[in-house]
Amino acid sequence: MPKGRSFAAKLAHETSTEGKIICPKCNSEVKKIKLVRNKKSKAETWAPKYEFVNICKCNEKDIMSGKI
Ligand SMILES: [Zn+2]
Repeated sequence: MPKGRSFAAKLAHETSTEGKIICPKCNSEVKKIKLVRNKKSKAETWAPKYEFVNICKCNEKDIMSGKI
């Protein structure tokens, strides 16, 4: 599939730019993702909370499963 291959090549090129963070523990790329969490306050109202989290292989399972 030439189209898919060219896309992968493009992606590989773009991710090899400067500023890429590699986790020293798992040796994989650390990505910054935006999480939206609904936290229920004492007033019984839902307040969406936005936060950026650095995610790599060390914590991706916990984050994706909602543990963190
Ligand atoms: Zn890691």
